[in-house]
Amino acid sequence: MFKKILIANRGEIACRVAATARRMAVRTVAVYSDADADAQHVAACDEAVHIGGSAPKDSYLRWDRILQAAKDTGAEAIHPGYGFLSENEEFAQACADAGLVFIGPPASAIQAMGLKAESKRLMQQAGVPLVPGYHGTDQDPQLLKKEADRIGYPVLIKASAGGGGKGMRAVDKAEDFDAALASCKREAKNSFGDDAVLIEKYVQRPRHIEIQVFGDTHGQCVWLFERDCSVQRRHQKVLEEAPAPGMPPGMRKRMGEAAVAAAKAVNYVGAGTVEFIVEQRQAERSPREGGGPSPVQMDFFFMEMNTRLQVEHPVTEAITGLDLVEWQLRVAAGEKLPKTQDQLEIRGHAIEARICAENPDNNFLPATGRLEMLRWPEHVTFRRNADGEPFHDPAPVRIDAGVRQGDAISPFYDSMVAKLIVHGATREQALARLDDALARTHIVGLATNVQFLRQVVRSRSFAQADLDTALIQREAAVLFHQEPVGLKLAAAAAVAKALADERGLQGADPFSRRDGWRPYGVATRAFAFEFGGERHEATLTYLHDGALQLSVGGTSGPLVIAQRGEALEVQFAGERTVAHVDTLGETDHVFTPRGATRIVAIDLLAHAGEGESEGGRLTAPMPGKVVSFAVKAGDAVKKGQALAVMEAMKMEHTIAAPADGTVSEVLYAPGDQVAEGAELLKLN
Ligand code: ADP
Ligand code: ADP
Ligand code: MG
Repeated sequence: MFKKILIANRGEIACRVAATARRMAVRTVAVYSDADADAQHVAACDEAVHIGGSAPKDSYLRWDRILQAAKDTGAEAIHPGYGFLSENEEFAQACADAGLVFIGPPASAIQAMGLKAESKRLMQQAGVPLVPGYHGTDQDPQLLKKEADRIGYPVLIKASAGGGGKGMRAVDKAEDFDAALASCKREAKNSFGDDAVLIEKYVQRPRHIEIQVFGDTHGQCVWLFERDCSVQRRHQKVLEEAPAPGMPPGMRKRMGEAAVAAAKAVNYVGAGTVEFIVEQRQAERSPREGGGPSPVQMDFFFMEMNTRLQVEHPVTEAITGLDLVEWQLRVAAGEKLPKTQDQLEIRGHAIEARICAENPDNNFLPATGRLEMLRWPEHVTFRRNADGEPFHDPAPVRIDAGVRQGDAISPFYDSMVAKLIVHGATREQALARLDDALARTHIVGLATNVQFLRQVVRSRSFAQADLDTALIQREAAVLFHQEPVGLKLAAAAAVAKALADERGLQGADPFSRRDGWRPYGVATRAFAFEFGGERHEATLTYLHDGALQLSVGGTSGPLVIAQRGEALEVQFAGERTVAHVDTLGETDHVFTPRGATRIVAIDLLAHAGEGESEGGRLTAPMPGKVVSFAVKAGDAVKKGQALAVMEAMKMEHTIAAPADGTVSEVLYAPGDQVAEGAELLKLN
């Protein structure tokens, strides 16, 4: 086994790899950018080397510096994690040339699977089923259009070099094809440096089911069952689970064998994932069968192979009791696969939720900021087993995070900050655990998808495993703009927090006092709140016996508060909850078992003169780069019309006109970097 490895990545995956290395007594070297000088992955490793500026191209993609760092520290092997250099065959080759082991497949396998179009041609030869489409080298726009027309709409245009859900455009009708192609090619060129695309039939109501495969240098290759990653937004995975609900045993085996065939076709070594798109059709029913819902028939087609460890690998670890990073290290060190196909089995059910810094209610716009408060449910970070053997008793809750409280989420990297993984004997149990664990995940300081994930987990479709990639759109009515906690309880919690802060100096449980203590010596006190976009007044009355009376939202009644550890138990208006309340600025972030909400205490004086709208200011929703302007000064525009395109976190964002008007000034040029809130153009 290696004595020392370098981890050429950051965030949760760098921490994840470091955890296994530590368990195996392999020393670790971190690399880091300017923005990551104090990052958790640096602390998680034995040594760390600074490799450059914050932008990935100046650090995590600088493989010359990474190789130098490996040499300088005496590392024998490099683990690339996912993203960054993990699927870069030149880097894999450069490692080999420098006498370092690349912990991943041979460069030739990465190359063969690297471009979606070429890998499809290869899979066709290997007899793996493909989605109908065009994956030729001729990229003439007119030819592409003709192919799309032939395949029939809707079609999907995909960047051949794409990944991570980027560089894809669904096209519903022929008229939209040219614009979608141009935009897709631009994003592809920008993100992947290659604008070749392929075109596929857009499969209706598809499920994304992928197979984990593992090969060694002794010619063995096994499949470690499947993961269902159908719950997606913008073609990016949101929730992943294993095994796939409703998977017929015959189909599992056929998919597993097709995945191994795909891997063997490229002499695969190490951890890889073969992604399939699964078409669901109502099966033909013979007349004898009678009523009831007809069974669903599922056909699977090869989509792509990811030649690396996948973000969602922990669900496979949970159901197999294996440590896939340990397998990666063993295989890279030349050992045989630790298990044969018939020694592998599925135990229970696991689900992973990706916790991202983003605003689901605003089209999942990535968010940046500081993690002012970070409170996790009870969990293990990574299940370790004293004797180093596979960990056969998966933890009910596992968290893979790359951040700590106080860390900043910068615009330079992916918006995923952590993963929450639960395991249960059944899917129902895993689901209940996930719901509870999400309720106990409290993040303050920037927008996250935690509450949204909870809504998804509780949606009818997810609960009943009615899965397909349109689940989020289908359930939109119960997922977005939800307010799980009402005004009365939120206000009661905010009042409780204010009193707790004031009485904090008075002893362990200030609310057990019944001695008539009053702040400022007054008997009533006025509060004003902003909640759900509206302003509300509230009155708190101190009764003679020390009890409290609260009036808010048309209800007046006793308010009973008790300290419960860090949390406050609040009873008001026939409702009772235990809330964690974290105050940041004027905002109270209220976390209850039924959900999280925010309530703002308004300072009456400071807000006296407000009420005028800002009018036609158009600002950058986040820090990033201006890609293009669709308008110039003097142009008349309609509400909703696209005005500018920005790029941040590798995604394009279109900025639309909030109202009809005329552009009076364009304040930046394409290519400019802008700060969050920067005014991009003026509208009259
Ligand atoms: P998939 O590629 O199928 O979406 P994952 O969901 O496991 O697989 O994606 C892994 C992560 O790797 C993504 O979250 C993304 O951040 C990153 N990633 C994948 N491909 C690229 C790429 N070409 N450039 C930058 N990041 C990428
Ligand atoms: P990436 O490399 O970005 O992961 P994929 O080719 O794996 O790209 O596709 C990502 C997602 O897009 C899939 O998980 C699926 O939800 C959707 N998708 C891909 N191909 C199709 C298709 N032909 N029809 C419908 N949806 C598709
Ligand atoms: Mg994919």
